[in-house]
Amino acid sequence: MNAIGVKDGAGEAELLDIPRPDPEAGEALVRTLRVGVDGTDQEVIAGSHGGSPEGEDYLILGHEAVGVVEDPNGTELEAGDVVVPTVRRPPNGPNRYFENDEPDMAPDGQYHERGIVGAHGFMAEYFTSPESALVSVPTALAEYGFLVEPISITEKAIEHAEASRSAFAWDPESALVLGNGSLGLLTLAMFEQRFERTYCLGRRERPDPTIDIIESLGSTYVNSNNTPVPEIPETYEAPDLIYEATGYARHPFESIEALAPNGVLAALGVPGDWTFEVDGGALHRELVLHNKAIVGSVNSNVRQFEAAVDSLASLSASFIDSLVTGIYDLDEFEGAFVNDDTTIKNAVQFSTYEKR
Ligand code: NAP
Ligand code: BGC
Ligand code: ZN
Repeated sequence: MNAIGVKDGAGEAELLDIPRPDPEAGEALVRTLRVGVDGTDQEVIAGSHGGSPEGEDYLILGHEAVGVVEDPNGTELEAGDVVVPTVRRPPNGPNRYFENDEPDMAPDGQYHERGIVGAHGFMAEYFTSPESALVSVPTALAEYGFLVEPISITEKAIEHAEASRSAFAWDPESALVLGNGSLGLLTLAMFEQRFERTYCLGRRERPDPTIDIIESLGSTYVNSNNTPVPEIPETYEAPDLIYEATGYARHPFESIEALAPNGVLAALGVPGDWTFEVDGGALHRELVLHNKAIVGSVNSNVRQFEAAVDSLASLSASFIDSLVTGIYDLDEFEGAFVNDDTTIKNAVQFSTYEKR
């Protein structure tokens, strides 16, 4: 069957011919509909994040998938069910994080991530998955079900950020999203329903499609060339919550001071190493004297995928239409990996959904 993968060191995605997988006991066989591409896939292709399964010299890409159950193989699923797979799998048999249904909290070495590190991903005509790692999705969401995984990333981050503020009467009014990539914009759309005022920071000049989306959501675009993070409180306001989705390593440090008192920063970016100077004393003092919190957040669990299904259903069709800039068939899959100022969220289409 056809699959899209990256050979070690190749630096680009290519079409591969691999055997169709056979489901093991407890696993279902899923026919892939669409698989989304994000910044992490670009990092995996470039070789700066993740890696191939042990003993193999290539990785099938893709961690944002939606598919249709082809063979339930004795599980409770039914043929024709639309499902989204979670990303993490235990590397050598279960460990306590997987047993607690919290694989997203597992440290390095205690998980593989399909399509990212140690395990093949979902960019293939079929994939298998344990039933426990498949989340059912209403058939009406089959086309855009590949957005469930990235939305679940934000469900988790919000949950942890709110938990860090749950010991007092926190009543946040404003939120700032750092980053106008696909994760940042999806998060901004989710925040529109939760906060009175939202802001989204990017470094693009007008005209730009992401700025149009930000404004059509009723949010304020902050151009970091004119207003870098440290100037946001004076120019706009000090936000109660900051969600970092740039991967720009100065942003979390700048955010500590930019936050409103009692505010929380959720840091999501995955930067490379970068040494720079910060005033550690000022940051330490700011955290303590203004009761601020920083939450790092990675990956997501089944519960957060289920919340993401509801969030996806609540997003407007016009927002999704403008976010999804390209759906590419297998014979033109390269287009899905183009990353320029006209692309926001692309996906590869392996098959189409037909109602039974
Ligand atoms: P992306 O498409 O590359 O988006 C990053 C955005 O940030 C881009 O729009 C970029 O602008 C903007 N940006 C970067 N540096 C900036 C700066 N200094 N000032 C202003 N804007 C800046 O990536 P993504 O898929 O949305 O993901 C965002 C980040 O989250 C990545 O680091 C990714 O690895 C990480 N991530 C983490 C998780 C997790 O579980 N923690 C999950 C998914 C993604 P331009 O486009 O104009 O360059
Ligand atoms: C994926 C997460 C994964 C993270 C780190 C993100 O793009 O969506 O599932 O945990 O990258 O590899
Ligand atoms: Zn991702």
